[in-house]
Amino acid sequence: MKIVMCASEIVPFAKTGGLADVAGALPLALEKAGHEVIVVMPGYKTVHAKTALSIKNVRPGLSIAEIGKAIKVYLIDHDFYFNRDALYGDKTGDYIDNIDRFSYFCRRTLDLLKEINFKADIVHCHDWQSAMVAVYLNSTAYSTDQFYKSMRTVFTIHNIGYQGLFSKDEFPKLGLAWNFFGVDSLEYYAQINFLKGGIVFSDVINTVSDTYSKEICTKEFGFGMEGILDKRKDALFGIINGLDYSIWDPAVDNLIASKFSAKNISGKSECKEDLQKICKFPLKPNIPLIGVVSRLAQQKGFDIVAAGIDKMCRMDLQMVILGTGDEKYHAIMESMVKKYPKVISLHLKFDDTLAHKIYAGSDIFLMPSKYEPCGLGQMISMKYATLPLVYKTGGLADTVDASNGFVFDKYSADDLLKTVKKSLTAYHAVDKWKKLVDKAMKCDFSWFESAKKYVQLYENARKRS
Ligand code: ADP
Repeated sequence: MKIVMCASEIVPFAKTGGLADVAGALPLALEKAGHEVIVVMPGYKTVHAKTALSIKNVRPGLSIAEIGKAIKVYLIDHDFYFNRDALYGDKTGDYIDNIDRFSYFCRRTLDLLKEINFKADIVHCHDWQSAMVAVYLNSTAYSTDQFYKSMRTVFTIHNIGYQGLFSKDEFPKLGLAWNFFGVDSLEYYAQINFLKGGIVFSDVINTVSDTYSKEICTKEFGFGMEGILDKRKDALFGIINGLDYSIWDPAVDNLIASKFSAKNISGKSECKEDLQKICKFPLKPNIPLIGVVSRLAQQKGFDIVAAGIDKMCRMDLQMVILGTGDEKYHAIMESMVKKYPKVISLHLKFDDTLAHKIYAGSDIFLMPSKYEPCGLGQMISMKYATLPLVYKTGGLADTVDASNGFVFDKYSADDLLKTVKKSLTAYHAVDKWKKLVDKAMKCDFSWFESAKKYVQLYENARKRS
């Protein structure tokens, strides 16, 4: 099959979250399976700043790089839209012209396919930023063009909480007929909703775990999309994300203090000591170290973490938190560092190297997300012999159980604290702990299986007219 992967962030070019991991790894798995894949994303300033990626400018507005064996990555350049410090916004919030930036990206993607004569079978779009590809394909500009006739669209929802909502007043900018602004189209309570456009106009839709694909059809998790999803339930699927083990494997990881594997785990203690040094913690080998790599957001469970953190800091443990997010949680965690400097270490930034060191050096990985479409942290941590502690939701429910981690099923600070205590007790029961770690390390979340499911999904899309 000829496949276009279209996303707003893709590893190794740009990343703010799990979407980038997926959009970077899936093309590689598809190429290995014999498909012809190209990738399209915006050419952000931060991408061009990465000299190691050998990006070539082809002409104004277009650059090219390569991943895998021969996957071309097309970077849509636009000095005004993408030559900025961040991907989506700054301290004051989202960039106010995101509607222009990402509708432009989607139109350019489609035009590019014709320019390079890539007659795709499947255009695979991710999240609201590339959702408009499916909408435009259905608009007269493209639907009447023979070149696009047989292209089918797959839309993956990585997080339904982010929808790309804009004022109705901006609708004329999209260059679409007004019949695209209706309840069965882009309109959502008198606003423009890009994600909804993706749901309505794509041939098939999926989310990144089976449980989340069911959860988003409910009022509790649907963020208002449950009604429209119900109309498309015959086209809605769940496929768990895979992990790229060429990046996330302690046996080959050059960013950690000492490599290790399930066969020989001895290097892990060196990683723990390295992490304790970074955190300026006492260098004790036998104190449980809890790691967090996350956005500091309510979605990630920070409301209950914030409510329980003081009590947690009085337990016999060490805790390191890496991430940025809501100022409110920054402030709470900073106050804890002042109060318990030997117990908690805070790193308010995005730092890939430190993330690797935390996965490798911790004993327990805390990820009590309130909702979690898939979640990568829990899968990564398992590979690094770090047991996940999660709330039973979405992809966390599909990947963690009592045999490879710790799960609680009532979303409250009390239940979180109880489960933390349980994990600390387990840590000191050495033989039992070893068994859990062994089981966790042997879990296989590689892309192989998930990529096969995506190919089936593409085949399903091709059958639709
Ligand atoms: P999200 O909802 O943020 O996409 P996921 O669990 O799907 O959550 O993916 C998060 C990805 O981003 C993981 O690879 C995680 O290691 C990484 N990550 C999150 N925060 C940071 C950070 N502050 N520094 C480095 N990596 C981070």
